[in-house]
Amino acid sequence: MSISIISRAEWGAKPWDNNPKSSGPASVPLAERTEFFVHWDGPHPITRTGYAIMRAIEAEHFGNGWSGVGYNFVVDQAGNIYEGRGWSRQGAHCPGHNISGIGVQVAIGKGQQPSAAALAACRALYDEACRKTGRTLAKRGHKDGYATECPGPELYEWVHDGMPAGAPVPSKPTTPSKPKPTAPAFPGRDKFRPGANNKYVTQLGNRLVKKGYGKHYSVGPGPKWSEADRRNVEAFQRAQGWTGVDADGYPGPETWRRLFA
Ligand SMILES: [Zn+2]
Repeated sequence: MSISIISRAEWGAKPWDNNPKSSGPASVPLAERTEFFVHWDGPHPITRTGYAIMRAIEAEHFGNGWSGVGYNFVVDQAGNIYEGRGWSRQGAHCPGHNISGIGVQVAIGKGQQPSAAALAACRALYDEACRKTGRTLAKRGHKDGYATECPGPELYEWVHDGMPAGAPVPSKPTTPSKPKPTAPAFPGRDKFRPGANNKYVTQLGNRLVKKGYGKHYSVGPGPKWSEADRRNVEAFQRAQGWTGVDADGYPGPETWRRLFA
């Protein structure tokens, strides 16, 4: 994602320190940047949109006695990126980390969820910051550097989930594959002998018929083991090339497996 940054001039920033003669906050070489801090606006929901967001932050930060917007950048819910201190000036966003850290506010307050567009823009800024500095910057929420609620629970979790840019787009539609039919488990030899009367005899008989080995049934198949069952099984076993006890008409596990394969 290429990023486009709305400059201070474009959003209508006042001169640094509200003084045309001010040279503004000190410069920081990119080589000194090692961290990327994410912030929110604070405990109150943001209702402003567009440039008004920046002007309000600027007014507040002038009120703190700062040179202007203290964040390096601000990202709004539409995914716009606004220049604050930019890439090259010392920030005013987290004591002790204003030189090492690039500070970015996602313009939400308490109770507001960051939009996918905002998160994608913030992540794009992070990637650009890594590219420009030539290193992998540490991902931090404000409270990793200072005792504060900032950046709120959602953004903090997002930062520590590795700042995912968005849900991955599946490369192809995912249709659940049909589960392969699996052969039923062999119920045991004792289910198939004279006197046996159970559902497995019926299951066996139905399968024999389906596979073309039902010619000895005059009735059924049914749950009561019969000579017809035995002879049909025998026919199936002989068709496997088996002889002798292997073709005695009483199904074992291998007969069952082949019959239901
Ligand atoms: Zn903060």
